[in-house]
Amino acid sequence: ANLEELDARVSVCRACPRLVDWREHVADVKRRAFADQPYWGRPLPGFGDTLPKLLIVGLAPAAHGGNRTGRMFTGDQSGDWLFRALHRAGVANRATAEHAGDGQKLFGARMISAVRCAPPDNKPTVEERDRCASWLDAELADLLPWVRAVLALGSFGWDATLNVVRRAGGTVPVPKPKFGHGEIAVLHTPAGKTLTMIGCYHPSQQNTFTGKLTEEMLDDVIGRARDLAEL
Ligand code: SF4
Repeated sequence: ANLEELDARVSVCRACPRLVDWREHVADVKRRAFADQPYWGRPLPGFGDTLPKLLIVGLAPAAHGGNRTGRMFTGDQSGDWLFRALHRAGVANRATAEHAGDGQKLFGARMISAVRCAPPDNKPTVEERDRCASWLDAELADLLPWVRAVLALGSFGWDATLNVVRRAGGTVPVPKPKFGHGEIAVLHTPAGKTLTMIGCYHPSQQNTFTGKLTEEMLDDVIGRARDLAEL
């Protein structure tokens, strides 16, 4: 896929009325701390390398994070956790991600989310997930041959990856492998190449504040994902 053209098309998608309302409402009302900033308020494109060996699959943009800054995992605590760890692993250029244009770069890795618009309570419906899957398919059609490993953030990212690989004509294990932190599933691309997926608890505040996900746990899984991707 021509990623620039795809990003332009994605950025004006209005296929999910509930999410369009929410992303624009949040952008309108804003959070007080960001009252003087423009909000992106639209679908988020993927971010990172255009020929990635490592794919990082998230759930959906955060209302005041990506939905504000226009870049995935940028401008909120989840993103800080993730980029700090990616930086420690040598996969990201900087340890922080404040706003688009801050010089952040991923080396050999690309982030995408299963749903591209911020959903209320971070919970997209099944219909919204299925509708947005067509963008995932379009973005991964030409990228999948490059990808060697997938870091699946949460069970939503895990399932989205299994589904997109299956729809693309690749193979996935049956019965469906269960998501867990550090769990591995071996998939195959349509060309028969091995694609290893590793599960990681989502670095959302409900996991990081409660200690369900620690920085050590994140470093461990990201290090393994990096090695599986041969980065
Ligand atoms: Fe379009 Fe996906 Fe946003 Fe729905 S969630 S409006 S399909 S970009």
